[in-house]
Amino acid sequence: MYASIRGSRRPSTPRKSRLTFRLAVLASTVALGAAGLAVAATPSSAATCNGYVGLTFDDGPTGSTSALLSVLRANGVRATMFNVGQNVQNNQSAARAQVDAGMWVANHSWNHAHMTSMNQSQMQSDLSQTNSAIQAATGIRPQLFRPPYGETNSTLQSVASSLGLRQVIWDVDSQDWNGASVSQIVSNASRLQDGQVILMHDGIQNTRDAIPQIMANLTSRNLCPGMISPSTGRAVAPDGTPPPTTPPPTGTPTTPPPSGGCTATATTPNVWGDRYNTSVTVQGASNWTVVVALTPPQRVSTTWNGSPSWDSTGYVMTMRSNGSGNTFGFTTMMNGNSGARPQIRSCTAG
Ligand SMILES: [Zn+2]
Repeated sequence: MYASIRGSRRPSTPRKSRLTFRLAVLASTVALGAAGLAVAATPSSAATCNGYVGLTFDDGPTGSTSALLSVLRANGVRATMFNVGQNVQNNQSAARAQVDAGMWVANHSWNHAHMTSMNQSQMQSDLSQTNSAIQAATGIRPQLFRPPYGETNSTLQSVASSLGLRQVIWDVDSQDWNGASVSQIVSNASRLQDGQVILMHDGIQNTRDAIPQIMANLTSRNLCPGMISPSTGRAVAPDGTPPPTTPPPTGTPTTPPPSGGCTATATTPNVWGDRYNTSVTVQGASNWTVVVALTPPQRVSTTWNGSPSWDSTGYVMTMRSNGSGNTFGFTTMMNGNSGARPQIRSCTAG
């Protein structure tokens, strides 16, 4: 089990983080005052991806998988989760949440044993059972396998291959399992080059806290989080993720917000086939209320870093600050309408 791997695991408590949104893709900027009259749409610069890196999180799902997913989503990260089969079986909803958050799920053995001491049939049974558990929980058949401790041999590789699993070790070890500080994890991640893969873990507070800085460093080098190719084992551009479309018209550009209001800026950092994430940053107030309207039949499935309430139609969300900072986010299910994006109706201070 993950509790026994490579050094001790300290219990960690999920905590709300002040998250800075850094990955601006095609941004729809809507500035609107308390009076509710001014709407302006301004495209911002697109993020440039000159290369891709594979961020990987091993040993989940854990009790803090949802905290990890929240940080990843808020920072526009898609990552590969090397799951332990037994953990998946014991926490199927967390495995499903990984996929719902846009993560890729992969095989990290049934119970984190030292697999090089197994015979061929034990290896076969271990990896098959894990594949089955992941598929049962998520509907997705893993294509990637990482041996526990990175320990492998030719028998294990051929067994994995026979099950359609590409073995993936890592290029950079974050050392998060070894008690690395946030700054050490960030520093280790800064060595990542195009195509490379970094080892991190689910269930470690320092790892979660490092993610905003890791993303800032990658963005400054025009590197983007990618998927790991099952054919090469290298990080590549995600597939099934069309680039964000041009934001829809959001009204007539008019005046800046009146004093006393605040400004809410919405971006769409992630778009998948059936859903997308929106990140909204509020300026001008630390206590704020932002009203967001959806286009039916789109529906919000998840929110983070704010307290939402809904009108009777279910298409107008009022999000209030809850002490988690000035950036909140939400996932919208397209439900067949892939073009519409949420409209910010107002931003009110207090
Ligand atoms: Zn592991």
